[in-house]
Amino acid sequence: MSEQATRELLVELAGSLFRRGFSVGSAGNISVRLEDGFLITPTNSSLGRLEAARISKLDRDFAHVGGDKPSKEVFMHRAFYTARADAGAVVHLHSTMATAVACLPDVDAENPIPPLTPYFVMRVGRRMPIVRYYRPGDAAMEPAIHEAARDARAVLLANHGPVVSGKTLTDAVYAAEELEEAAKLFLMLRGTNPRLLTPAQVDDLLTTFG
Ligand SMILES: [Zn+2]
Repeated sequence: MSEQATRELLVELAGSLFRRGFSVGSAGNISVRLEDGFLITPTNSSLGRLEAARISKLDRDFAHVGGDKPSKEVFMHRAFYTARADAGAVVHLHSTMATAVACLPDVDAENPIPPLTPYFVMRVGRRMPIVRYYRPGDAAMEPAIHEAARDARAVLLANHGPVVSGKTLTDAVYAAEELEEAAKLFLMLRGTNPRLLTPAQVDDLLTTFG
C-alpha cells in the first residue's frame, strides 16, 4: 500500500473509532510502519478530525521528519516495534471497558481477560498482560512495555488503557475493537462462572489462525 493510501486509511479508521466512542477528545494515538519509517497521529490531535497530510512522519529511528509534531506517547509505539518484528501498526486507546479492567486490583496481571470467545484469542492472542502504572510521559514506561510486548501482541497499561499491535493497520484496529468487546464481556460476567475456552481450544485457534 502506498504511503498516501496508508495515510487515508489511517484517517478513515481513526475517525470510525472516534465516532463509535472508542476515544474521546484528543485521547488515543495510532501508528503504522512504512518501508522508510513510521506514520503516527500528531500530538493533541483528535482521532475524529485527522488530516492525511498533517499526520506525523518519523524515520526508521523514530526521528520526526514530516507533518505535525508527533504524539507525546510515541515511545509506547516504539516499545512495540522494537519488541515485535511482526508489528506493522500500533493502536493506543483509553477505551472505557479495557481501561476499566486495567483499574481492577484483583485480576491476574499476567493475563486479566480469560479466553471467553475465539475472536479475542484470534485477534489478541493467548495472553495480554497488565503493565504497572506509570505517570504519563514517564520514560520508565518504555522498557516495561517493551519487555511485556515480547510475548504479547497487546498490553493493558494500568489505570490508563490498552496498547495493541497488529500485522497491518486494519488488523491492529480490529484487535483493539475486539479487546474492548472482550473487556465488556469480562466485566459483564464478573461474579458468574462462565464457560471458558479450554487450553486445547485456544491451541487449536492459534494453530489455525495465529
Ligand atoms: Zn494514553
